Amino acid sequence: MNKQTSNTIAPGEDISRRGLMLVLSSPSGAGKTTLSRLLLDEFPDLTMSISVTTRPKRPGEQDGVDYFFVNAETFGQMLNKQELLEHAKVFGHYYGTPAAPVEALLKEGRDVLFDIDWQGAQQLEHAKGADLASVFILPPTTKELEQRLKTRAQDSNEVVAQRMSKASDEISRWSEYDYVIVNHNIEDALSELCAILTAERLKRPRQLYLVNFVKRLQDGQ
Ligand code: 5GP
Repeated sequence: MNKQTSNTIAPGEDISRRGLMLVLSSPSGAGKTTLSRLLLDEFPDLTMSISVTTRPKRPGEQDGVDYFFVNAETFGQMLNKQELLEHAKVFGHYYGTPAAPVEALLKEGRDVLFDIDWQGAQQLEHAKGADLASVFILPPTTKELEQRLKTRAQDSNEVVAQRMSKASDEISRWSEYDYVIVNHNIEDALSELCAILTAERLKRPRQLYLVNFVKRLQDGQ
């Protein structure tokens, strides 16, 4: 059963909820992509932000699903036109979050999930602090991280080595996040992530409809 919460906007009701930006960061291989997919299954009303990147497509990845794959020139144009909410260079490639879809979803009171690195999380925190909840995923051990990168088998040995050498840098950012999950096993990590989203949705300032709801209660309705 999915976890669409009771404070989701019901069609036709004069209630509204402020959209939430849920940011997930981790070193590559800590299970963030798997956790994102599982969280989206649990919360079908959550929408994943699809980033643009200049990184080459990996086997099995689809343009417009996993990323919008663009060349450096297109990325530069988007940046100049201020079409990106945040951007960063990660492992030698550019990544960025298109602003328009996110703004539209938040305006509708919908929640958006971001799989971005610490640089992007910092930029979103500055731009959108109140709408943001950030989660850092840690691997249980370095050995496990390397194993996961190798078994993913989508990257060359050289890329795996490069990602491992960056892992400690990325891990050092853990203390900048609101929540931290150690991914010992995917079931527990998922249930912790679900708990975070549920609690964040219930934060009073996000439940804008409460003002009218409580007024009706006080009027005896
Ligand atoms: P990958 O190439 O493995 O898909 O992603 C590499 C890293 O880039 C991951 O840590 C991922 O979270 C991050 N990333 C993906 N999209 C974005 C984005 O739009 N902005 C930022 N800042 N980082 C991103």
